[in-house]
Amino acid sequence: MGPLNGGRVDGDASPEGGRLDLEWLENIYKEFHQEPELSTAEEKTAARIIRELTPFTHWKVTTNIGGYGITAVLENGEGPTVLMRADFDGLPVAEKTGVDYASKHSQLDAQGQRVPTMHACGHDHHVTSLLGAMHVLDGTRDKWTGTVVALFQPAEEASIGANGMVNDGLGNIIPRPDVCLAQHIVAGPAGRVFSAPGPVMTSSTTIEITLYGRGAHASMPHRSVDPVVLAASTVMKLQTVVSREVPPDQFAVVTVASVEAGKANNVIPDSAKISLSCRFYDEALRKKCVDAIKRIVRAEALSMGADREPNFKFVGMLGATNNSEDVFKMVRGSFDEAFGDESVDMEPWTASEDFSVIPKSFGVPYMLWTVGITPRRQWDRAERAGRLDADIPTNHNPAFLPDLTTLPVGVRAAAVGVLSCLQGSWPRPDKSSEDQTYLPTVPTDADIDAVAVETSGAD
Ligand SMILES: [Zn+2]
Ligand SMILES: [Zn+2]
Repeated sequence: MGPLNGGRVDGDASPEGGRLDLEWLENIYKEFHQEPELSTAEEKTAARIIRELTPFTHWKVTTNIGGYGITAVLENGEGPTVLMRADFDGLPVAEKTGVDYASKHSQLDAQGQRVPTMHACGHDHHVTSLLGAMHVLDGTRDKWTGTVVALFQPAEEASIGANGMVNDGLGNIIPRPDVCLAQHIVAGPAGRVFSAPGPVMTSSTTIEITLYGRGAHASMPHRSVDPVVLAASTVMKLQTVVSREVPPDQFAVVTVASVEAGKANNVIPDSAKISLSCRFYDEALRKKCVDAIKRIVRAEALSMGADREPNFKFVGMLGATNNSEDVFKMVRGSFDEAFGDESVDMEPWTASEDFSVIPKSFGVPYMLWTVGITPRRQWDRAERAGRLDADIPTNHNPAFLPDLTTLPVGVRAAAVGVLSCLQGSWPRPDKSSEDQTYLPTVPTDADIDAVAVETSGAD
C-alpha cells in the first residue's frame, strides 16, 4: 500500500477555545489522584475511565484488553490513524505532598501485604490529559478527518501492561495505527513541553540473582560458605562494570536495588538474593554489561568456594524508546506554534517505558514527549540555589506533585500532537518489518544464553 494522504485539519484545537470544562478537568484529575491502584490491580481506575467515556457516543470503546486495558476509536473519515496512549497505574509509595486531595489509599500487593499507594509517576495526569484531548477532538470533529485511537494502558510500572494488551489481540481490536504517541510528565518548569528525535528513554534489564552458599550456625563461620559476605563483595565488585568497563562517553546504569539475606541473628543463611536494574541506550553495550555482570557474579561465587553456581533470572526487559525523526518533525512544528518558547529540546531520560512495545508490535513510527509539572516558583528558587537535584522531587518521590495549571497543557499537547499527525502522510510498512522490531518483554532462554559467559564450574 502506498502512502496515505493526510487528513484535513482546520481551525484551532486549543482546550482554551471553550471546548473543555476546566473545572471537570481538575475534578477528574483529583479523583484519579486520590485512589491510585497498583499495576494489574487497576479495577476501579478502569471503571472510572469507562464511566468518563460514556458521553463519547461516536467512539467505539473496548474494555478488559490484557487486564484492564481500554481503547476508544473514533473513525472520522479519510486520513491516517493516530494512536495516543496514556498509562494509569500507581505505585506502592506513601504520599507526602500535604495537599487535601493526597492519596490515603492502600492496597494488597502481589505478596499479599497492604501497602500505601500513590500516583507518584503522574499516570493520573496522563489519563486526565487523554480524556481532555478526547473532548477537544470530539468537539472539533467537523474540523478534521482521519481516525483517532485513545489507548488507556494498565501495568506500565511493572513493564507488562503494553505487552499484555498486544498479546491479548490489540491488533484485532483497533485499526492498525500509522503513528503512535505518548506523553509523560516530569520534574521540570511547569508547562514546558520537551521533545526530541532519537533515543529519549533507556532500555531496561532487570535481573534477580540468587547466590548460593552453605548455611551454618552463626558461631561457626568456618563451616559455612557465607552468602551474606558473598552478596556484599558481589555488590561492591559490580560497581566496576560501569566505572571500569563502559567507555566514559557512553551511558550505562547498573544499580543493585535490593539485597535479601538471612532471617535470624544466629544463623548463617544458605542463600542470598540481589536484584539489579540496568539501563542502556546502546544494545551492544547492554550485552557487554550483562556479560560482565554474569562474569563477576560467577567469579565471586567461585572465589568464596560456593558449591553451586549462582542463578540468573531475567524478570523484565524493555527496549529503548527511540523517537521517529519523521513524527518528531511534524509534532515539534505544531508544539512550537502552540507553546512558543515553552516548546524546547528534551534531554534523554534515564528512565524506561513500555509504551514503544505498542508501535513496535505494529511496526510503525512513534514519539514520546514530556511535560514539566514543577511549580515555577519552586523550580526557580531551587535553580538559583543550585539545588535542583536536592530540592525538586522527581517521579516516584513521595513529594512529587504536579502543578494543577499543567492539566490543560497536558490536554493541549495531546490534542495538538494527534492533530498534527492526522495531517501527515505516513508510509505503511510491510508486514515483515514488524517482527524484526518487536522485542519481547520477557526474554527467552535463547536471549539469555546469547549473553551468557562460560566460567569454570565452582566446586
Ligand atoms: Zn514510573
Ligand atoms: Zn511513568
